[in-house]
Amino acid sequence: MGFRRIVWRIAVPFAVLVFVSIMGLAWRLSAVAYENHVAQLERMLLADAQALGVAFGEQIAEGVVGEAAMQDEILRYAQALGARLSLIDEDGVVLADSDRHPTTMENHRNRPEVQQALARGAGSHIRVSETVNLELMYAAVPVRRGDELVGFARVALPLEEVREGVGDLRRQIVITAIVAAVLALLLGLWVARRTARPIRDLTNVVGRMSRGDLDARLIPTTQDEVGTLTEEFNAMGDTLRATIHSLREERGRSRAVLETMADGVLIVGADNRVQLANAAALGMLGFAGDAPQGRTLAEVVRHHQLVALWNQSRSQGEQVDGLVELGADGPYIQAIATPLTNEIDHGGLLLLQDQTELRRADRMRREFVGNVSHELRTPLASMKALADTLHDTVEDDPEASRRFLAKMDVQIDAMTQMVSELLELSRIESGQVPLDIRPTRPVDLVAPRLEQLRPQAERKEIALEVDVPEGLPRVMADAERAGQVVTNLLHNAIKFTQPSGRVRVWAEASGDEVVFGVADNGPGIPPYILPRIFERFFKSDRSRTGGGTGLGLAIARHLVAAHGGRIWAESDLGLGSTFYFALPCATENAPGS
Ligand code: ADP
Repeated sequence: MGFRRIVWRIAVPFAVLVFVSIMGLAWRLSAVAYENHVAQLERMLLADAQALGVAFGEQIAEGVVGEAAMQDEILRYAQALGARLSLIDEDGVVLADSDRHPTTMENHRNRPEVQQALARGAGSHIRVSETVNLELMYAAVPVRRGDELVGFARVALPLEEVREGVGDLRRQIVITAIVAAVLALLLGLWVARRTARPIRDLTNVVGRMSRGDLDARLIPTTQDEVGTLTEEFNAMGDTLRATIHSLREERGRSRAVLETMADGVLIVGADNRVQLANAAALGMLGFAGDAPQGRTLAEVVRHHQLVALWNQSRSQGEQVDGLVELGADGPYIQAIATPLTNEIDHGGLLLLQDQTELRRADRMRREFVGNVSHELRTPLASMKALADTLHDTVEDDPEASRRFLAKMDVQIDAMTQMVSELLELSRIESGQVPLDIRPTRPVDLVAPRLEQLRPQAERKEIALEVDVPEGLPRVMADAERAGQVVTNLLHNAIKFTQPSGRVRVWAEASGDEVVFGVADNGPGIPPYILPRIFERFFKSDRSRTGGGTGLGLAIARHLVAAHGGRIWAESDLGLGSTFYFALPCATENAPGS
C-alpha cells in the first residue's frame, strides 16, 4: 500500500507539473498569436481604408448622403474585399455603407475608431456591431483634400475567423498538453517504480527479519543513497544477528544454570506476578499447573508463610529469610526473599533452599546418638553393679567373684559386638566398604555360612534344610559381604526359633535375579512391626531379653542395597517367618564369569 502511494506521490505531481506548465505556456502563446492576428488584421484593414479613402475621395468631399450610384459602388468594393465598408463625412454623417442604407444610420462622429482617426490619423476598435450583431474590427482613416479633412473611410471585418484560428491553436495545444501529461505520468510512474523498488525490497527484508529470519539480507544494486542505505541495513542486520545470538547464548546459559540448580528460584514482578520459576522451585512447591508465568505469587506458592515472607521483604525493602515447612510431610525449606530494586521493575527474587535432607540427617544423627547411648546404658549399668559387688566379694567369696566376672565377660562381649556392628554399619552406610563384586555361585554364598552356624543349630536341635542347586546362574556379589547377609538371616532364624524347630535355606532363579530364602517355624513377626524390622536398633521385646543389638537386619539391608538387590520379609504370626533377598544375575560376558 505504502509502495503504491509513493509511486503516485511521485508520478502525479510530475504529470500535473507538465500539464500545468504546457497549459500556461499554451495560454500565453495563444494570447500572443491572437494579438498578432489582430495587429495584422488592423494593418490590413487600415491599408484597405486608406485605399478606400483614395478611391472615394471625390464623393466624400461632395458629401451626398446615400447616393444610389455610390451605394452600388461601395457594395462592389465590399464584395471584392470581403469586408464591410463605410464612408463618413467630416461631421460624422454616414454617406455610404455596404451593409445598411446610410439614411437609417446614426451619426458616427463619436465612434472610437473615428475619434482615433481624427486624433492620430488612424484608428481601430473591436466591438459587437449593432447592425450585424457580430464582433467586428473597425479601422478608420481620415480622407483629406489637400490639407482639408473631408471625411473618413472605414473598413470592418468580423473577428470570428481570428477567434476560430486562435481557438484551433488552443485545442491543438490542449491535446498536446494532455498527451504530454499522460506521457509525463507514465514516465513518472516508471521513475517512481524504479525508485520505490529498492524500498519495497527493503520492506520485504525488514518484514522477514521481524518474523525472525535474521539471515535476511539485500544485495546492493546501486551506488546511490539507496545503495548506501542497503549496505547500512545489511551491517545493521549483522550486528543484530550477532547481538541476538550472544543474547540467546547468554539466556541459554542462564536457563541451564537455573534449571540444573538444586535451589528453587522465583522472580516476581512489582505486580506480584511470577515472571520466572525454575524446575526446582516448581518441584518443591508441588506446582502442577501449566505455565506459572503471569500467575500471582500466592497462586504459585500456595503457602501463606512464603507469601508473608515475600510481602515483608517488599515492605521493608530488604532481604528477609525464614524456615518454612511446606505441608506435614512436605519439604522443609529455607526461603530468602530479596528485593531487586534496579533490575526488574522493582520486583524481587525468592530463593528456596531444600533443607529436608539436612534436617533428616540431623534428626537421624540425634536419634543415633540417643539410641547408642540408650543401648550402652543397660550393659554399663549392669557392669557397674557387678563391679560394685565384686568389691565386696573379691576377698571373701572367690567363687561368687568368678561368677560375676563371667557375667561381666558376657556384657563386655555384647558391647564389643554392638560396637563392631555399629562400626560396620556406619562404614557400609558411608560407602567406605569397597565391594569386590564378581560373578559368584549362589551355593558359595550359602554353604560356608551354613557350616559356621550348624553347631549353633545343633545345640538347639534345630533341623537345617538346604536347597541351593549347584547349577543356579551366578550372581553379581561380593562373596564375603553377601555371605554376611546369609549369616545374619540364618542367625536370626536359629535364634528366634524354639528348640527342635526347623530352618530351611534355599535359592532359586527368577527372571534376571536369584532369590535367596531363609524360613523358620519360629514365633513369627507381628504385622505391625514387620515394616520396621530393617530399621537400625529395631528389636522386639523378646530379642531385648535375648541380647540382640537390632543392627543385624539393618546391616543386611544396606549390604543388599549396595549389591543393587532387594530384601524383604513375610511372616505368619505363630507359624514362622521367611526372609528373602534377591541379587542380580551375572551376564555372560561380565568380567570373571
Ligand atoms: P536382633 O536380632 O539383634 O534383635 P535384627 O536386626 O537382626 O536384630 O532383628 C530385628 C528384629 O526383627 C528382631 O529383634 C526380631 O524382633 C525380628 N526378627 C528378625 N528375624 C526374625 C525371625 N526369624 N523370627 C522372628 N522375628 C525376627
